[in-house]
Amino acid sequence: MFIVKDLGFKYPQNKENTIKGISFEIKKGEIFGLLGPSGVGKSTTQKILTKLLTDYSGSVMYKNQDLKLCKREFYQEIGVGFEMPVHFSKLTALENLNFFKKLYHENKDTDELLKRVGLYEDKNKKVSEFSKGMKVRLNFVRALLNNPKILFLDEPTSGLDPKNARIIKDMIKEFKENGGTVLLTTHLMNDVDELCDRVAFMNDGKIAEISTPKDLKLKHGKREVEVEYKDNKDVSKKTYSLDTLANDDEFINIIKTKKIITIHSKETTLDDIFIKITGVTHHE
Ligand code: ADP
Repeated sequence: MFIVKDLGFKYPQNKENTIKGISFEIKKGEIFGLLGPSGVGKSTTQKILTKLLTDYSGSVMYKNQDLKLCKREFYQEIGVGFEMPVHFSKLTALENLNFFKKLYHENKDTDELLKRVGLYEDKNKKVSEFSKGMKVRLNFVRALLNNPKILFLDEPTSGLDPKNARIIKDMIKEFKENGGTVLLTTHLMNDVDELCDRVAFMNDGKIAEISTPKDLKLKHGKREVEVEYKDNKDVSKKTYSLDTLANDDEFINIIKTKKIITIHSKETTLDDIFIKITGVTHHE
């Protein structure tokens, strides 16, 4: 869908480039995660790919065409849900959606979407009376209004309780199952694990690493297994190499003779990888 080559960008008022030469590809039908601490340039990258910022260097191709040459039709094909929900607060939820619907050739059934995210009963309330979570859900509905081919999402579950976050995540997965492509930014590594086919970790305007979540966990983890078992009355914990496990008499003996409490391979978590690659904890 997108091929980005050596992308660079500087905000006019800044001295340094915010995006310092990044290259990546977003394949059709995948959920691609753009990750990294605040201020590394994730939103700026999303804004370039959605044509909100045009004065970049390098090249961005959308469906084999230079993005700079893509016409207004481009907006019919994309759905955008950026972090700060932008709505007309004096209008109701439905009035807001009807306003945006008019901009598009194609429209999804609004009632169905509102029901799905639990806002149908509130559709005639003014958005100014909505909680943050309700605005986030309305923003997500807005991104889907035109039945887009590609969704740009920035922290789509931010401020949602687990039940509502579940609904949004399920809808993102369904969007993908129906052939959609997603560019997702999030700080929640559990969401990344569940949703993303591939991820790029950004650090200081560059891409530090691109891979699948699974390969990253294997690469940065240890090829070890940790066994916790009952040893008479005590609890013991031992670690063995995965590569020599089959011939490890001590390990085999434990498995045969002891009561196992837990047994885990030690691939790392995306949280740990985030910290390792970017050098910061991402909890703000
Ligand atoms: P992220 O989405 O990863 O948190 P951003 O892309 O929002 O990062 O921001 C990257 C950098 O660009 C930050 O240092 C930020 O201060 C700067 N920046 C963002 N928007 C603007 C702007 N409109 N003008 C000037 N600098 C900006």
